[in-house]
Amino acid sequence: MRIVFNKTVAFILCIALTAIPFSALSVCKANAAEPVVVVIDPGHGGKNLGTDYLPIPEKMYTMTVALHMKEQLEKYQNIQVYLTHTEDIDMSLKERAEFAASVNADFLFSLHFNMSLSHSLYGSEVWVPSTGQLYSQGYSAANEFLTQFDEMGLFNRGIKTRIGSNGKSDYYGIIRESTLRNIPAIIVEHCHVDNINDTPCIQSPEKLKEFGVRDAEAVARYFGLVSKDGQTDYSGYAPLAVPVPTSRVCNDTTEPSYVAANLLKYDQTGKYATVELTAIDAESVIQYYSYSYDNGLTWSALQPWTKGSPTMTVSIYMGYGKKDTLIFKAYNLYDKSTDSNVIKLQ
Ligand SMILES: [Zn+2]
Repeated sequence: MRIVFNKTVAFILCIALTAIPFSALSVCKANAAEPVVVVIDPGHGGKNLGTDYLPIPEKMYTMTVALHMKEQLEKYQNIQVYLTHTEDIDMSLKERAEFAASVNADFLFSLHFNMSLSHSLYGSEVWVPSTGQLYSQGYSAANEFLTQFDEMGLFNRGIKTRIGSNGKSDYYGIIRESTLRNIPAIIVEHCHVDNINDTPCIQSPEKLKEFGVRDAEAVARYFGLVSKDGQTDYSGYAPLAVPVPTSRVCNDTTEPSYVAANLLKYDQTGKYATVELTAIDAESVIQYYSYSYDNGLTWSALQPWTKGSPTMTVSIYMGYGKKDTLIFKAYNLYDKSTDSNVIKLQ
């Protein structure tokens, strides 16, 4: 079944969200009487390596970061931290959610590292539940993680939902199984292990520790924790308040509807082309563009799109040799792309 989050649905959802009173907003604070229970899920394990593009498989990265995250979180008051597993074992997604339920988890954070088949994608992203209060809590916590990764210089690939083919539940098992148990769960994809933009962030034990520490800081901010030594106090911090959606928040399954390129200037001496790009997608934001000056035979690396803007002006170095054409692609939040018109240079 094809799920389309069309303009009408978006409009209705916007109206519905606007009408929600503030008291219904998702605000999650640590209760002084009861400790916050956090479950960290190191993604993969055992025979399930996860991404194995690099000699070190994903399961090793996730465990290392999870242990640092736990250590950092335990520097805070009023929190109980568990890992779904500490040994290198196979564990089903259902078992992970069952574990979280068995300890009365307030939140499950599933840690992952990403790669793309094309090896062209880069940056961090977080997958969140698609419904109700779980969506609001997931989105708000995800925002804290992406803020941390942004400070590391990683590209923000956004906060996303993904619906299964039946259209009635979340696609990702850990989110689906946790939703069944009414536990907010998010999948934190820290960065892409197969892209040179991101690999500096995983190339040393210190960098992996930084991910763990920043993951913990995201959680501490979200729950408004205070450190045991009193040095860090997030009790007055307000995480993003996300209205509870009245219907399922679906992923965008279609390409950008309109992409156009308008040549402003072609400096043949300096070999630069200045182009105004326009890209429109009613269902999600534009996040990358790329270009080709050999009629689409080869494409540039993905370049960041100016967030939230339908247009941007770019300056493309055309290199040596005669170039006849220039074409662009614009990519949306879900990496679906649309080609622009062809600019004729000669
Ligand atoms: Zn993974």
